[in-house]
Amino acid sequence: MPNQKMAIAIDGPAASGKSSTAKAVAKTLGFHHVDSGSLYRAATTARARAGGEPSTWTEQSVLDAAAIVSLAPTEFGFKPLLDGHEVESEMRSEAVTGNVSLVAKMPRVRDWVNSIVRQAGSEYDVVVDGRDIGTVVFPNASLKVFLTADPAERARRRLLERSGGEPSAADIDEETKKILLRDEMDAKQSGQAPDAILIDTTSLAQVEQIEKIVELGREATG
Ligand code: C5P
Repeated sequence: MPNQKMAIAIDGPAASGKSSTAKAVAKTLGFHHVDSGSLYRAATTARARAGGEPSTWTEQSVLDAAAIVSLAPTEFGFKPLLDGHEVESEMRSEAVTGNVSLVAKMPRVRDWVNSIVRQAGSEYDVVVDGRDIGTVVFPNASLKVFLTADPAERARRRLLERSGGEPSAADIDEETKKILLRDEMDAKQSGQAPDAILIDTTSLAQVEQIEKIVELGREATG
């Protein structure tokens, strides 16, 4: 593992608000944010472009496709590029979200993501969000947080973020099913480190959870 600077790990299930929280915490503390899920999404996007039925994708074909992925520094973090181009909306599409867990199960794809994330952590103080950051990627992180929230609340927030308006109960139900399915598919790759601080955000405003983690981060790294 390359030399590590300071790392704060934020893990948790789908749509638990990890990325937006991690980004805000990084910005406040002057760290760089790394969204490890965005690398799994970038690899999935690259492989999807190469075509073929997802169930036939081999690990090697994903790694070959992912050769065009790079991680570009931004002001407060990084963003993945495909052949030098931004792919934010394609990466967040239903098609990619529906297949990313399949790709994330591939051990050599996990090694590929982990080495990119650790490289970033060797160059900058980082706040990294994902599923296995506190358990596998940075087991010596200065602070480990595990965010959870009620699945229906996670669904509500995801829909609100997408459409801007308060979602209907039927839409929340449908989205909750998708989120629970992804939780199940990601279960093997996800874990709460024994030394992680559990924060249930179901009834917390985002600004409160950010403040809480910033405070913990200052205590742990200051
Ligand atoms: O965080 P996000 O939902 O964007 O992550 C997309 C997917 O990437 C997850 O559903 C999971 O399959 C995978 N992932 C992972 N390990 C991580 C981060 C994400 O397996 N550290």
